[in-house]
Amino acid sequence: MTKIQVAGYDVQLSRVNSLWDTIAQLDHSSLFMLVDENTKKHCLPILEESNSEKIPYQIIQITSGEINKNLATSKLIWEALINNNADRNSILINLGGGVIGDMGGFCASTYMRGIRFIQIPTTLLSQVDASVGGKLGVDHKSLKNIIGLFNDPEVVFADPLFFKTLPSRQLRSGFAEVFKHALIKNKKHWQFLCKIEDIQTFDKWEGLLSTSINIKKEVVEKDPLESSYRKILNFGHTIGHAIESLYLNTNTAYLHGEAIALGMICESYLSFKKNGLSKTSLEEINNTLLRHYELQKIEETSFDHIMDLIQNDKKNSSGALLLSLISEIGNCHVNIQCQPKEIIESLRYFNEVL
Ligand code: NAD
Repeated sequence: MTKIQVAGYDVQLSRVNSLWDTIAQLDHSSLFMLVDENTKKHCLPILEESNSEKIPYQIIQITSGEINKNLATSKLIWEALINNNADRNSILINLGGGVIGDMGGFCASTYMRGIRFIQIPTTLLSQVDASVGGKLGVDHKSLKNIIGLFNDPEVVFADPLFFKTLPSRQLRSGFAEVFKHALIKNKKHWQFLCKIEDIQTFDKWEGLLSTSINIKKEVVEKDPLESSYRKILNFGHTIGHAIESLYLNTNTAYLHGEAIALGMICESYLSFKKNGLSKTSLEEINNTLLRHYELQKIEETSFDHIMDLIQNDKKNSSGALLLSLISEIGNCHVNIQCQPKEIIESLRYFNEVL
């Protein structure tokens, strides 16, 4: 059993069966459980197994998917809380991936100026990334996470038990953030990850979650509101986000982590060109990522569109393209200015190594 203390709350590892003891200790008037159709089917029964005292709760069910992470769904959640007389002493449990965690946390934090919430992330991505750092919110039109706030949960239960039912593509997608944490902060962890042949059969989750969550914790505690240092977490994301948006709603849509893997290859190339990353490390990163992710060449005709998407990225201040780039495996720097032609060169590089 491991407990990681992040700012004002604990991330409990592999202990979701102690949820009900924790709840019994938290004075509350009523309990709500936010689920989608998948977590209701696969994850709620796991919680129910350990609910020996039959602590009552109301289920609020929403439809899964990023497309539903918006104000319309938030309204449904707020209305469900109102219709079931949730008061300031109620607690909302968010059982699901990053969509449920971000949106449920946002709804709880704004309902009656804020009620308590518990995060039970059920995907790898949400366990190592979304549930640590207090970012909550929803998308609006094509703008991701544009409406939201920072707030902390009562507690987070990160349990790999839930991965058994997670589709393998989702598991692999979450692994991209694990790779990223190692690349920006921990070379030893990267070397460990490089030895993993098949993510699907990997079984040393507790150690991996602990290392990855601790990296994120260290970063967000140094810079809780993302003034500067926290931007190292954006490694791979400037180009990755643009790729994710480019293919959104097409036959070749990438999951978030897949797009980030592609982004990390391009941004490792930029790290090599501009920030001292060695050629050997660049090649090691490419080989490792390409072994786990099925990526496709980017059409040259899409390059301008990708540049538009990057230029609209909120991370760029005063028109300059500022990226987080690594100088070696385990060391990342923020605010490195890149020229559009350098970014295009990195996209071409990606097409060559694929
Ligand atoms: P997701 O929440 O959409 O979940 C992916 C799919 O897996 C969904 O269909 C879900 O129903 C299903 N699912 C979840 N757990 C399952 C399980 N155990 N078994 C079977 N199916 C299961 O996606 P995600 O990758 O977890 O999260 C992506 C979201 O996280 C994005 O909205 C992103 O913006 C957000 N995010 C937030 C932060 C943050 O700091 N707050 C960081 C990274 C990502």
